[in-house]
Amino acid sequence: MPGRVETPSAEKSRTGTASTRRFHAAGCPDLDAAPTADRVLFVSYWDAVDGDYAPCPRCKPGP
Ligand SMILES: [Zn+2]
Repeated sequence: MPGRVETPSAEKSRTGTASTRRFHAAGCPDLDAAPTADRVLFVSYWDAVDGDYAPCPRCKPGP
């Protein structure tokens, strides 16, 4: 199959908050409280870890 592209899925993607250098599972209160400008989107858990972000201790986003 030509043109196989890895599409980021909502299930795998993680959103980080730049001010805290942490990333969150969807629906985390800390994430909801963060302004849009502070949010960083990662395609996966490991993408966030590679970006030097730590998992949020509150929502504990797993890989
Ligand atoms: Zn969180």
